[in-house]
Amino acid sequence: MDKAINKKLRNKIFYSNLQWPRFLLNKAFMAHLLLPQIPASSLPASTPARRTPLPTRLSANPQSSASPSSILIIGGGLAGLAAATHLHAAKLPFLLLESSDGLGGRVRTDSVEGFLLDRGFQILLTAYPEARRLLHFPSLDLRPFYPGALVFHSGRLHRVADPFRRPIDSLLSLPNPIGSVLDKLIVGIHRLRAPTSSPETTISHRLRALGLSPSIIDRFFRPFLAGIFFDPDLSTSSRLFDFIFQCLAAGDNALPALGIGAIPTQLASNLPSSSIRLQSKVLSIVPGNPPDVNLAGGETLAANLGVIVAVDQPEALRLLPQIKTASRRPARRTVCIYFVADRIPVREPVLILNGSGEGIVNNMCFPTNVSASYGPAGGSALVSVSVVGDGGGAGRSDEELAAEVVRELGGWFGPEEVSSWKLLRAYRIGFAQPDQSPPTELTDKDPRVGDGVYICGDHWSSATFDGALVSGRRAAEALIRDIQV
Ligand SMILES: Cc1cc2nc3c(=O)[nH]c(=O)nc-3n(C[C@H](O)[C@H](O)[C@H](O)COP(=O)(O)OP(=O)(O)OC[C@H]3O[C@@H](n4cnc5c(N)ncnc54)[C@H](O)[C@@H]3O)c2cc1C
Repeated sequence: MDKAINKKLRNKIFYSNLQWPRFLLNKAFMAHLLLPQIPASSLPASTPARRTPLPTRLSANPQSSASPSSILIIGGGLAGLAAATHLHAAKLPFLLLESSDGLGGRVRTDSVEGFLLDRGFQILLTAYPEARRLLHFPSLDLRPFYPGALVFHSGRLHRVADPFRRPIDSLLSLPNPIGSVLDKLIVGIHRLRAPTSSPETTISHRLRALGLSPSIIDRFFRPFLAGIFFDPDLSTSSRLFDFIFQCLAAGDNALPALGIGAIPTQLASNLPSSSIRLQSKVLSIVPGNPPDVNLAGGETLAANLGVIVAVDQPEALRLLPQIKTASRRPARRTVCIYFVADRIPVREPVLILNGSGEGIVNNMCFPTNVSASYGPAGGSALVSVSVVGDGGGAGRSDEELAAEVVRELGGWFGPEEVSSWKLLRAYRIGFAQPDQSPPTELTDKDPRVGDGVYICGDHWSSATFDGALVSGRRAAEALIRDIQV
C-alpha cells in the first residue's frame, strides 16, 4: 500500500495492528455501508466536446457576432460559459464579454517551463451533478486522487482512507490519532445518510452535532475543509459541507490531464468563437429597455434581449449596486505556491493535510504524481502548496513565503527531502470565494435583478464549479422563459 512512499517516510506513517472488531470485517456490514453512486442513467446525456478544443485565448477583438437582437453575457468564468452554452443550445444569439486575456475566470491553468500550474489548487469532484450534465468527462482525461489523505500530525504522516473505496487502508488506520475509532465510525455512517434536511448551521456546529471529537475535527476536517472553503474557522454553511461530503462519497477528486483550465476550454470549444470577446471590460450597465452596456474602450452595446452578469461577487456589487449581499465577513483568500523538485518524499497521488495546528501550510500535493502531464516528460516533479489567507503578511515577498514553506515542510519530510525544491511561481488569490456563512440561499435564488438583467456566478449559488455552472444555467433559463412570454 505504501510502496510508492519512500522508505524513510514509510516509517513515519503510523499504522498499528490492533484486533479489528469482527463486525467491521463482515462483508455484509461493509456492503450495507456502501453509498449508491449517482446513476448516470438519471442524467441527461452529455454533449461530447469537439475533440480538438479551441484555445481559451481568443482574439481580443474579433468580428463581433452581436446582432441587434443579442444577449450580452458579462464574464467568461464557468458561470458565464454555462449561460452561453445554454443560450447556444437554444439557438439564441449572444456575445460574451470577458475583461481578461482568457476564459475560465478563477479556473485557469498556466504553462510555465513545461509545468502546468493551475491558478490555485483546485479539484473537480466527478460526482458534481451539473458538471456531469454539462461536461464530457472522457475528453477531460480525468486523473483521480487517492480516496483519502495523509495527515501530518505529531511529527508523522497518518493515513485517512475512504472506508468504502479503500476498506483495508481504512481499517489499518482506525487506531491512528486522527480521530478515535468512534469518530471513524460516525464518518462512515454519515456517508450513508441521504442529503440532510437538518437546519442550516456552520460546518463547525454540524461536525460537533454529529458527535465528532475535537481531534478528528482539528486534525482532519479543519485542514481538509479549509482547503476547499479557505475557512479554517469552519464558519461556512453546513449545506456546503453536506453537498461536498455527498459528492466526495459518490465520486473521485480528479484533475484533468491538461490542467483544471481544460474545463472552461471544453465549454468554450462548443461555442462559436465569434461570440466571445476577450479584453473587453464592462464599466457599467445602464438600466433601460433594453439595458445598455458600456465598455472600457468607450463602446456602448445594447442588450436587446437581455444581459447576463456573470462576474465575481465584488465586481457584481460594483456593476449592480441594487443587489444585496448578506455577507458580513471578508472574502476568502489563499496563496498557492509551486515548486520544482528533483526529489519528492511521496509518490502517491494523494492530498497531504496539515493536522498539526501549526505553521502556514494548509495542504499540499504533488500534481505530477496525479498526472505526469503536469510536468515535462521525464523531468522534475511539481509541488503544489496551499496557504489559507495571505500566509502571515501580504507584505512578504514570494521568495520569503516560499522559504518559510520549505522550512516548514522540511520539518514534515526531513530537510534533505526538500533541499532541491525551487520556487516556480506563487499565486496570491485575493478573492478566492465569497463568504458562505449561514444564512445562505444556495438554491432558488431568482436570477432576475432588473428589467432584462440577470445575474449568475458562484455567489448566486454555491462557490464551487458546480454552483457556478448551475447559476449560469438558471440565468439563461430565466432569460429564455422571459423572452418567450
Ligand atoms: C484557488 C481556488 C481554488 C478553488 N478550488 C475549487 C475546487 O477545488 N472545487 C470547486 O468546485 N471550486 C473551487 N473553487 C471555486 C470555483 O473556482 C469558483 O466558485 C468558480 O470558478 C466561480 O466561477 P464564476 O464564473 O462564478 O466566477 P469567475 O471564475 O470569477 O468568473 C468571472 C469572470 O468575469 C470576468 N469579469 C469580471 N469583471 C468583469 C467586467 N467588468 N467585464 C467583463 N468581464 C469581467 C472575470 O475576468 C472572470 O473571467 C476554487 C476557487 C479558487 C480561487
